Amino acid sequence: MEFIKIENLFFRYDEGEEDQPKNENYVIRDLSLSINKGDFVAIVGHNGSGKSTVAKHLNAMLIPSMGKVYIDGMDTADEALSYDIRRKVGLVLQNPDNQLVAGIVEEDVAFGPENLGIAPDEIRERVDEALKAVDMYEHRLKAPHKLSGGQKQRVAIAGIIAMKPDCIVLDEPTAMLDPKGRQEVLDTIHKLNRENGITVVMITHYMEEAVTADKVYVVDDGRLLTSGTPYEVFSQVELLKKHRLDVPQATELCYKLRACGVKIDRLPLFENECCALLREVLA
Ligand code: ADP
Repeated sequence: MEFIKIENLFFRYDEGEEDQPKNENYVIRDLSLSINKGDFVAIVGHNGSGKSTVAKHLNAMLIPSMGKVYIDGMDTADEALSYDIRRKVGLVLQNPDNQLVAGIVEEDVAFGPENLGIAPDEIRERVDEALKAVDMYEHRLKAPHKLSGGQKQRVAIAGIIAMKPDCIVLDEPTAMLDPKGRQEVLDTIHKLNRENGITVVMITHYMEEAVTADKVYVVDDGRLLTSGTPYEVFSQVELLKKHRLDVPQATELCYKLRACGVKIDRLPLFENECCALLREVLA
């Protein structure tokens, strides 16, 4: 079932400034995509290509200049629906330090549901559940600033899922983290998708993270360059390179070997897949 539908989205930040030439200032141009309930989707692209702008359209923080965005059938341009839309789609940002507001982990996670006016007993339940879901329950009484970057980001995610959204949109959630923190956060997001059925839209510039999604959308200069399963997208190495986009290291290595004449039929995405393939080819 379709949960997010973007139809021919155009967006410009300087909407009101009529002296600006029209059409030239769109940072999103004719972008369409649809995401089903329960999907895990990655959006990749260069800095400045428009990924965050798209993310902000998914919880009605931004409204299309032209085109439509529907969340679970609700038109984001209808102001009367913004509250319902924001309850359905939670946004997790890049820097966990900007998202944690309280002095104790569990108070921080309670902040969102408190603002929704949820009853105290239920808040207690939701906070415990959310902290367990991100494997941070044992740290519930700590001060957030004592946690590692990956732990802080997991607390920020708990704060969002305590509001029980159907979907979480994560805007480069691992960009500020070390490799260990990145892996913890990625594993947590996958677990929430797998076990809690939460629809995930993850913006990332790490191709190694994008390959773990069900579907990848590549945004370039405000337009959709290509989309498909990770295999469909990353097999288009020439197209991605033409637009100065990376492919996973395993794909890159095998692409180069193939260019040197090594017989490789299918480009791998993962390291272990690459090793198995090379073992076969070199045997
Ligand atoms: P990405 O997330 O891919 O780095 P963004 O969506 O942040 O890209 O930015 C897309 C374009 O919109 C960039 O050219 C950026 O400079 C511009 N932009 C982003 N935010 C604003 C803003 N608040 N006001 C004006 N222009 C903006």
